[in-house]
Amino acid sequence: YPIPNRKILLQENPMFFFPAPSVATQESWSWEQYLKEQNAIAAPVELFSKDQSFPEHENGFQVGMRLEGIDPRHPSVFCVLSVAEVCGYRLRLHFDGYLSCYDFWTNAGSPDIHPVGWCEKTKHELHIPKGYRKDKFVWMDYLKACKLQNAPKKLFRNRSSNGPVPKEFQVGMKLEAVDRKNPSLVCVATIADIVDDRLRVHFDNWDDSYDYWCDVNSPYVQPVGWCQENGRTLIAPQGYPDPENFSWPEYLQTTQTNAVPAKVFKMRLPHGFLPNMKLEVVDKRNPRLIRVATIIEVDDQRVKVHFDGWDHKYDYWQEADSPDIHPIGWCDVTGHPLEVPHPNDVKILPGQAVCPTPGCRGIGHIRGPRYSGHHSAFGCPYSDMNLKKEATLHDRLREQTQAHLEADSSHSKLKNLYSLNFNGKHETVNSQPRHVQQAKCLKIKGKEDIDLDNLFREYSAEQNQQALHQSVFLTSMSAHPSRELPLGREQHCKLLPGVADIQASQVARWTVDQVAEFVQSLLGCEEHAKCFKKEQIDGKAFLLLTQTDIVRVMKIKLGPALKIYNSILMFRNSQDLTEEDTVTGQDVTE
Ligand SMILES: [Zn+2]
Repeated sequence: YPIPNRKILLQENPMFFFPAPSVATQESWSWEQYLKEQNAIAAPVELFSKDQSFPEHENGFQVGMRLEGIDPRHPSVFCVLSVAEVCGYRLRLHFDGYLSCYDFWTNAGSPDIHPVGWCEKTKHELHIPKGYRKDKFVWMDYLKACKLQNAPKKLFRNRSSNGPVPKEFQVGMKLEAVDRKNPSLVCVATIADIVDDRLRVHFDNWDDSYDYWCDVNSPYVQPVGWCQENGRTLIAPQGYPDPENFSWPEYLQTTQTNAVPAKVFKMRLPHGFLPNMKLEVVDKRNPRLIRVATIIEVDDQRVKVHFDGWDHKYDYWQEADSPDIHPIGWCDVTGHPLEVPHPNDVKILPGQAVCPTPGCRGIGHIRGPRYSGHHSAFGCPYSDMNLKKEATLHDRLREQTQAHLEADSSHSKLKNLYSLNFNGKHETVNSQPRHVQQAKCLKIKGKEDIDLDNLFREYSAEQNQQALHQSVFLTSMSAHPSRELPLGREQHCKLLPGVADIQASQVARWTVDQVAEFVQSLLGCEEHAKCFKKEQIDGKAFLLLTQTDIVRVMKIKLGPALKIYNSILMFRNSQDLTEEDTVTGQDVTE
């Protein structure tokens, strides 16, 4: 064991960690009484799917058991997983050979997990633990050598209520699908895989991280021609030569593919959730916790969730079919702790270190389950400084070279299904990791350097302006406005030379004149410098600007606004890195 940094030892080591006093009233808290007090109603059990509702079986998994399952960040990737923790009907799963910060929680009945040997049987590629050679990995040898146990088949009680996918749905067929991370966009898509009653939807010529699994009745998948019939804009595949005049018949012909027959689509009924209904929801910021929550808004496919007793800044949209929402009483029935709304008068013992975030009991850590708790804003998943970090953490494969994935032969074999280029020839799919959705409707061609400005100028002239606008601003209107850069950091460094070297701490000291000077230095933004001066924006204010501020309030056009906003994101990100380096620079060995 290397000796951990002393500060971490004192602050974050589980041995020294005591959570803030558990709410004294927690034991006596009851849904019945709470609903009465709040004059609220519970979301009716009938609205929940089998994956969300009360399980029919016990959770038989045990810590240490090995299995195969989908990486939630990369839905096309099946991995070697182990059970790291069992809580009620839930499991914390760990990627063998990787740090525990990539662990994730799932339900024991999740259709995403399979017994050892499943991949081989169903001809799916298994991503083996880091450090093993692909051609040398044999499950049974691995289990034997490491004295490990595989999770018995009988524990995988995946629901199969919908029956198998109708045979009209076949791998390789085309359809129109909603981009789940960006629901205003409907894009050209392919069925990339079929397992039991679910499809994996892949967006043509985009990387697999945008894929998702859904059942055939999902409102996210629609037949070819649906957009045209419903007056929606269909987003053409990346690189399609004339995206405004995308033609399905032509595309099907050049790619030599078929559309899923329209008549086999049966859309399920609307979700039925309504505002003010109460439920139990996994807190995505601290996914070991399930909280008392209220639906405060709904749209066609989603519900906006508020955690009772918490500030509204923590509200977020959740898909109505997410396996992380449950009817009231779910925790009780499955033996999972339920985080109830905290009273205002939590008593803190003298000298006790307590997380400063209201409502937070110091459970969990922004760096994942490596630490069981935290005492300060640095580790708190709810502190302002960490709210914007969510997306930059916990992507296992992003930190490896993308080449690792690309080098896998069977992976690329699958890819070839939809990587036919528009002359009908095979072409290497652009493997640039695209960190954010908005890039999806921009035509980013391979590794060419295209000036951001040109991209946006080109687009703003087009019909798709609305879609682009929505896609670019969707994140700013959703829960986490400032979390990501629309393109990879490397790309930004090239597009915004000079910006990468400036630290947020420097920017924070800028005067109004210095801010204006900086804006003036950005190509294409010269004329907007005076606007910043007029609004008296100094360095600190500059760092806090949102996309909405820049476009709506300052009335700056989309192209320059994005350039300015991206610079701000770059500055903010540089600060993140510095903080992380100094605070948790040293890894604690598990
Ligand atoms: Zn906290």
